[in-house]
Amino acid sequence: MDITADREAALLAQVPTGLLINGEWRDAEGGKTFDVEDPATGKVLLSIADATAADGALAMDAAAAAQDAWARTAPRERGEILRRAFELVTERAEDFALLMTLEMGKPLAEARGEVAYGAEFLRWFSEEAVRVSGRYGMSPDGKSRLMVNKKPVGPCLLITPWNFPLAMATRKIAPAVAAGCTMVLKPAKLTPLTSQLFAAVMVEAGLPAGVLNVVSTTSAGDVTGPIMKDERLRKVSFTGSTPVGQSLIRDAADRVLRTSMELGGNAPFVVFEDADIDKAVTGAMAAKLRNMGEACTAANRFIVHESVADEFAEKFAAKVGAMTTARGTEDESTIGPLIDAKSRDKVHSLVVDAVDGGAVAVVGGAPVDGPGYFYQPTVLKDVAADARILQEEIFGPVAPVVTFATEDEAVALANNTEYGLVAYVFTEDLNRGLRIGEKLETGMLGLNAGVVSNAAAPFGGVKQSGLGREGGAEGIEEYLYTQYVGIADPSDG
Ligand code: NAP
Repeated sequence: MDITADREAALLAQVPTGLLINGEWRDAEGGKTFDVEDPATGKVLLSIADATAADGALAMDAAAAAQDAWARTAPRERGEILRRAFELVTERAEDFALLMTLEMGKPLAEARGEVAYGAEFLRWFSEEAVRVSGRYGMSPDGKSRLMVNKKPVGPCLLITPWNFPLAMATRKIAPAVAAGCTMVLKPAKLTPLTSQLFAAVMVEAGLPAGVLNVVSTTSAGDVTGPIMKDERLRKVSFTGSTPVGQSLIRDAADRVLRTSMELGGNAPFVVFEDADIDKAVTGAMAAKLRNMGEACTAANRFIVHESVADEFAEKFAAKVGAMTTARGTEDESTIGPLIDAKSRDKVHSLVVDAVDGGAVAVVGGAPVDGPGYFYQPTVLKDVAADARILQEEIFGPVAPVVTFATEDEAVALANNTEYGLVAYVFTEDLNRGLRIGEKLETGMLGLNAGVVSNAAAPFGGVKQSGLGREGGAEGIEEYLYTQYVGIADPSDG
């Protein structure tokens, strides 16, 4: 059943429109607001408070004031808050899914998938909250005792992108809550509504005032710049593009802030001649078309053995060509709009450059007319080695296919990028898969799998894809520091 306008209006009416500072929803300084649009229609969904630097300072004050008491809260209590939040998000899964579809564009089925994935970080870290432990032991010479404690790093600045509005927030907020850190969250201006609703859920789950403060804004740098300079801030965790991440790392250097950086990607998707091609095509659909290709983990380059490249491209193009571009709320939608006109134009310019260089569009290759920022899902073959589309993050539903002859060539092509987030390898030879995995310079590898994201696993990249890991046992470590206590030999009396 298609979603009705009434249902949309009723949901939007539940989204808080203020800034969350010290447990209260309040207007921005001077009553400033900004509009959030539906990328499928270009229509305004809601206007919300537009934080200024002064609002950011108040949020920082609130986070700093709440830190000591929050760090002393029982880990079980923090875990229970996260558990309640998991249950509340799960109960309201349809609301969160619809809200993400409205502001970000992804089809409802995918938005439901993101709700489950995003909620899983709440459940996972509710369990991790009570597992933080240190150690106590004798020094090697027997003359002292060594005690090692883990402590929350302190107030954190969290900055999230627009492409996964719920999961990118919970992946940071849940471990910070579990560790005992307070936060200022700055969501992306294109999709802040999910964070606004999620923050209300955290309050409902019992999070004390000041622990999570949310400053949606159209002036990212103006709001976060002074916070980065604030001597009470201890950490910045950022998910977004590599250039913005690099500039935040430079700013973090001034105060030697802890950083977690989840940055851009240029994932290779390697198909060997011994792969199960149908399995590879299924994996390719997930790795490329999920989220309209607007994912840091999106397969950016299909590197296929020359003996199976035509078969792979044809089967892949047949599935891609059968997708239906439509507003994500519509039942038939399997691919929604891109986030804005700028993104759609960039995707098209990459396709035009590739085609000018000799590539052939097996399917797709053009924007879709009409309202919204839709782009035809596209498969390109015969892509020249120097095409821009192989170097840059596409962030759209376009799959360039190139070929290789030897294993060494496949590895060299796969590693030929400054990014190192994830790679996908399809082969029926497990030894080969593991061998290639050892040679690939990426933080993650999908082996015969087109999706790697899992709350229980350490997500993150190497090279210019970032620093640190989110999720898994590693995720909470990003919000803890180690304190060692040297103790004189107690047997000396
Ligand atoms: P972006 O332009 O870098 O923005 C990300 C966030 O940073 C937004 O909240 C943005 O605010 C904010 N921002 C922009 N300029 C800033 C500044 N000077 N100071 C402080 N904050 C600033 O990235 P995006 O376009 O939203 O997201 C797409 C990128 O994110 C892609 O490169 C993708 O690969 C990457 N990504 C990585 C991961 C990962 O886990 N590795 C996951 C998802 C996405 P505004 O909204 O106001 O611009």
